[in-house]
Amino acid sequence: MDFELTDEQRLIQDTVRTFVNERVLPNAIDNDIAHRLDRSVIEGMAELGLLGIVIPEEYGGAGLDFVAEALSCEEIERGEAAFRTLISVHVGLNSLALLRYGTEEQKQRWLVPQARGEKIACFGLTEPAAGSDVAAMKTTARRDGDTYVLNGSKNWISYATVADHALVFAKTDPAAKHKGISAFVLEQGMPGFTAADTEHKLGVWAGSKGELFFENVAVPAENLVGEEGQGFEIAMYGLDQGRFTVAAGACGVTRACLERSVEYARERETFGQPIGKYQFVQDMIAEMVLGYETSKLLVMQAAWMKNEGRRNTRETSLAKWHATESAFRAAHLAIQVHGAYGYSAADHLRGHHPDPQADASRARARLQGVERPRRRSLAAVLVGSSARAGTARATGRHWRLTEPKLEQRPF
Ligand SMILES: Cc1cc2nc3c(=O)[nH]c(=O)nc-3n(C[C@H](O)[C@H](O)[C@H](O)COP(=O)(O)OP(=O)(O)OC[C@H]3O[C@@H](n4cnc5c(N)ncnc54)[C@H](O)[C@@H]3O)c2cc1C
Repeated sequence: MDFELTDEQRLIQDTVRTFVNERVLPNAIDNDIAHRLDRSVIEGMAELGLLGIVIPEEYGGAGLDFVAEALSCEEIERGEAAFRTLISVHVGLNSLALLRYGTEEQKQRWLVPQARGEKIACFGLTEPAAGSDVAAMKTTARRDGDTYVLNGSKNWISYATVADHALVFAKTDPAAKHKGISAFVLEQGMPGFTAADTEHKLGVWAGSKGELFFENVAVPAENLVGEEGQGFEIAMYGLDQGRFTVAAGACGVTRACLERSVEYARERETFGQPIGKYQFVQDMIAEMVLGYETSKLLVMQAAWMKNEGRRNTRETSLAKWHATESAFRAAHLAIQVHGAYGYSAADHLRGHHPDPQADASRARARLQGVERPRRRSLAAVLVGSSARAGTARATGRHWRLTEPKLEQRPF
């Protein structure tokens, strides 16, 4: 495995980084606050070829490899998760599944415009009562002459109300559990096929999430992807592709947290020196570096296996697990480094924390003092590193005597 990036990979990394700096980051906070999906960014991504990055050139794509896709997802999510999500569903879940399972006619009809970024695609698998348990889906597709008649609904579908094409999974044989699921391409505007946005999400407000509804939708039989009953296999293949982009994107979250924290640790001063001089702050930054580097190694391992055409479900799952955990941890640490400013809506960290409610509880905790100085005080008591700590041990009044003097307190 070669860790050196090729000139082409480096070029795409630099290009997407510049795009994010110029076109995504300047409006990211405002769009998040306003719950606004910036379609001009999607147009820019299409122009760069990101909506068909790993699709062969003969099908309208950029024909790049999975390392290039990972680098792009990292750069994009460093700016805004909503647009990495678009790569996940449009390229990973939908287009790559079409590339593998679609007929030549289907590829020309749907994959080519998707890869060129002329049409947007989503992936409709999850239902209100069927998430992890895919075989529990209730949506049905009944054969009726040259059509299949679809009835049911899907929820939590990224880009549901934006997409022109949807890869939808439905039961053609309800008794056969996962072997009775089939995959169909539905197009926006088909009679009986509607979509609605999901309100009140916890995060990724600048993105798009919604529901799909099917009411006696007559889908031509030529829209069946793969064989009847092959839908579960197609869905699992697509999820493998999407998972990889999530893992790569999570590296971007960790890097964003790290970059912001280093910058802040250099400029913010307490007690007469930059907070970056404190070992506790350095420790948090070092943990982010570790999270980033280890996540990236796992992602690159999975990318290499994908490029080689090797089975990679295990490696991709490990990469996603570790990278998303590291991103969550980095967001938590970055908020700590930023003190009260980590809770500011005007800070770029805002978009990177997946759970604003967790932020709220951390902010509440912060009202009683930021965590690290408190830990330092507690540790000082235990190891007896200050005269005051010694007094505290003797009197048992730890909480009081380890407080900084009033005029030294940062709040
Ligand atoms: C931001 C976002 C975007 C999404 N985009 C899409 C999309 O574009 N298309 C789409 O089809 N879906 C999408 N989803 C849905 C997503 O794929 C489902 O949320 C996921 O499959 C989990 O299903 P569920 O939410 O019904 O949870 P459940 O399956 O109900 O699980 C609930 C909990 O139980 C646990 N659990 C379930 N089964 C087991 C088990 N056997 N053993 C141990 N623990 C178990 C789970 O780990 C989880 O903690 C999206 C979801 C989110 C949050």
